[in-house]
Amino acid sequence: MADTRQLYQEVILDHNKKPRNWGVLEDATHKAEGHNPLCGDHIKLTLRLAGDKVDAINVQGESCAICKASASMMTTVVKGRTQQDAEQLVQEFRNMATGKLDHESKPHHLGRLTVFSGVRDLPARVKCAILPWHTLRAAFNAVASTTTEAEEDPMHAPIGGA
Ligand code: ZN
Repeated sequence: MADTRQLYQEVILDHNKKPRNWGVLEDATHKAEGHNPLCGDHIKLTLRLAGDKVDAINVQGESCAICKASASMMTTVVKGRTQQDAEQLVQEFRNMATGKLDHESKPHHLGRLTVFSGVRDLPARVKCAILPWHTLRAAFNAVASTTTEAEEDPMHAPIGGA
């Protein structure tokens, strides 16, 4: 669908030109680094929880355009949400990007994040789009460093309680 593709390209360009919440939080309560050796993406995520809400979240690093746009958009969506809601989004985003969630017929909370649904047809880019979400989950779970390599993939572990 041309419209979706066009929107996707606009989002990628916009977030690369002006990445939101870019930088490192000085007073972070949670942080993690994420690597995607397949592409060379390397990001650093810092966030501050106030109670169970994400009060502030920043990302910085060296990455391709898809990873950067996904990270930038993630920060805007996750900010102000509870950790539980954010973890649910991590799961839904991953399922959408890997083609396990049909976002057009199944209920979800992804909202405008569905612009990234096209990566499911681009196997080499799936990990680029997922890396920020992966890293967010690592930060919540106090895992200092994470990678998209399958054998160390923390996403294979079930989310606590879910
Ligand atoms: Zn990448």
